[in-house]
Amino acid sequence: MPLVRYRKVVILGYRSVGKTSLAHQFVEGKFLEGYDPTVENTYSKIVTLGKDEFHLHLVDTAGQDEYSILPYSFIIGVHGYVLVYSVTSLHSFQVIGSLYQKLHEGHGKTRLPVVLVGNKADLSPDREVQAIEGKKLAESWGATFMESSARDNQLTQDIFTRIIQEIARVENSYGQE
Ligand code: GDP
Repeated sequence: MPLVRYRKVVILGYRSVGKTSLAHQFVEGKFLEGYDPTVENTYSKIVTLGKDEFHLHLVDTAGQDEYSILPYSFIIGVHGYVLVYSVTSLHSFQVIGSLYQKLHEGHGKTRLPVVLVGNKADLSPDREVQAIEGKKLAESWGATFMESSARDNQLTQDIFTRIIQEIARVENSYGQE
């Protein structure tokens, strides 16, 4: 019987960037138009990658800004992060930098498993952040970057596959030190 590995992942970002829509699309396979709860929510899903099975526990947060204090529950026992901004909001991209800084301080580690997501890529005419800017920021952390749309099931699945892979990559790199 394959070993099922538990992975706790927190989704962080400014409000209205699509955190809940991504979590919903991933778990339920649908895009919910105009669905906007402000409370924190958790989701569970078994993800199979090759021969490995993962129990992915997702925490969808209520949204942060540059002044937010991250609770310990967003740090302790968390394996990885999906940091989400909207490509239609420069401010949401700026908030990501300060969130990353806080996570980094909280963990006291040089490398954190992170997937940086530029969401709402389907709204290209309203774009305020270019893909290259997201890519550069993720590269500066040694993290993974992708653009997505919560309307697109495949792109959304890819985000959560990538974070599981990123957690394994960072764990292996520590194991080799
Ligand atoms: P949250 O506050 O970050 O959890 O954001 P929500 O998931 O509640 O989304 C805020 C609004 O943006 C809602 O009206 C969603 O329907 C919409 N939305 C979320 N993701 C996308 C996306 O990828 N494309 C488009 N066009 N709209 C999106």
